[in-house]
Amino acid sequence: MPMSYQVLARKYRPSNFSEVVGQEHILRALENSIKHNKLHQAYIFSGTRGVGKTTIARVFAKCLNCQNGEMPQLVPCDQCSACLEIKAGRHIEFLEVDAASRTGVDDMRELLESVQYKPANARFKIYLIDEVHMLSKSSFNALLKTLEEPPPHVIFLMATTEVEKVPKTVLSRCLQLNLKVIPETQIYDHLESLLKLESIKYDDESIRLIANSAKGSIRDGLTLLDQAIAHGNGLLDAEEVKALLGTIDESYIIELVNQVALSDGDGAYLALNKITELNVEYEQVLKIIISVFHKISLHQQLQNSNEEAITKLAESIDPQMIQLHYEIALNSLAKFHVHPHPKQALELCILRMLAFQPMSEEIAPKIEKKNPKSAAKPIAPPKQEVETVDIQPEEPKPEEISKVEVAAEEAPAADKNVPTEIDMQSWNSIFNSLDLSMFVSQVFSEFEFVSFANSNLTLKKSDDLINPTEGLKTEFLEAISTHLGQKISLSIESGEVIASPAAMEVERSQNQLNDDKDALLENAAVKDILDSFGGKIIDESIKKVSP
Ligand SMILES: [Zn+2]
Repeated sequence: MPMSYQVLARKYRPSNFSEVVGQEHILRALENSIKHNKLHQAYIFSGTRGVGKTTIARVFAKCLNCQNGEMPQLVPCDQCSACLEIKAGRHIEFLEVDAASRTGVDDMRELLESVQYKPANARFKIYLIDEVHMLSKSSFNALLKTLEEPPPHVIFLMATTEVEKVPKTVLSRCLQLNLKVIPETQIYDHLESLLKLESIKYDDESIRLIANSAKGSIRDGLTLLDQAIAHGNGLLDAEEVKALLGTIDESYIIELVNQVALSDGDGAYLALNKITELNVEYEQVLKIIISVFHKISLHQQLQNSNEEAITKLAESIDPQMIQLHYEIALNSLAKFHVHPHPKQALELCILRMLAFQPMSEEIAPKIEKKNPKSAAKPIAPPKQEVETVDIQPEEPKPEEISKVEVAAEEAPAADKNVPTEIDMQSWNSIFNSLDLSMFVSQVFSEFEFVSFANSNLTLKKSDDLINPTEGLKTEFLEAISTHLGQKISLSIESGEVIASPAAMEVERSQNQLNDDKDALLENAAVKDILDSFGGKIIDESIKKVSP
């Protein structure tokens, strides 16, 4: 980066209203009050962070005190001492206060004491109080007193991200200006114009990604752009930007959602693996999952998406199922930060979605399992006339399959201490020492040990549990074969399960379970689904919230 490089946010700080991005309605109101000489004595700018509150307030302060004429100026000259001093933050009659650091009544009293003195060399004494909602109650009272009878030479500009925390008595004395989040297209256009001014090479996708990540904040957009330029050694490249933003290609998430919709645990497992291989932030993945469900749901109501993948999913998945998955994902996100392992939190979220099965006839055919062998759930046979899901889940790549088979068939080390007998007690401790992925471990921990003979392991699952698919079985068998030093085969029975490894953990995690289940049951949408589908929450599926 050349020494002369100046961060874009500072370099292109708006010097007048025409350079401000967005907020046209606010600017018009301010311009009108200047034009018609109808100034208020207190203005409050509200809106989320980075949308231009203090930027607009500073430009307005220049307009008010610009000396290029007798009256406040619509366009500040940017040449006179008042304009230059305000720009540099050293105008004596323009006091900027951050209420977050000066909340005490003494601070406020000190500040307000200066109100009575006329400005020495300026039209107005202007106070800009940022984050005004942070003031203490007594500070607000002191401020209110001044606002009730302000000296004519004083103008208060206040900014806040939480206008609802500002007392009504104060608000009623202010002109309220609510700033909007800035539309993505406007941020895009602004960033593009700056890149052209700076003669920086860029591609459209890079700007689109940054404009999207800015989430309506022009400041965030500029900060990200600066970072991306630094990251890309002076130019913008989509791959670099993706790496910087930790962006995940949405198609990966679509594939995962599709597998969940198909109730294909194996497919979901593969899709999730592909995502985690990208070394992404798991919380970000969950957020995208939520936004995908949101888009699907919106399209089901409004037919408003032109993304092919979204419209296909919207047609093939029942709206209430989408709603349920959406709620599960939101619930997982709310608890994400309390989970010690972000990856497991994500996996558990997917497992929970898979564990919920609709039990009514109308729904079942639509999400009929891809693999008939795993259709152990009480799902009604598909009706002929019902549309089928036409997005085909991706088959595991042939090389992956053969690799797994080879590994499983390799003769394991024969010198291992091969146990000849396993009972329920030793099984549970063997299970806990297996090197399994969270996903596989979660599924098989619900199975009870039945017998072990002639290298065949028999486990029992309860009727209402997901039947493990081939991919899950393969990983499980590989691990157990390695652990026992012999090639193991697996049989699975159905019946009542009492002493599975998971059941042994129940007491330890009982409190967590209760919280989790209560939260789910309290959730109106979940209740709806359960009632209308005649479904139930499979307890085992939410037991191990906190391993
Ligand atoms: Zn001026």
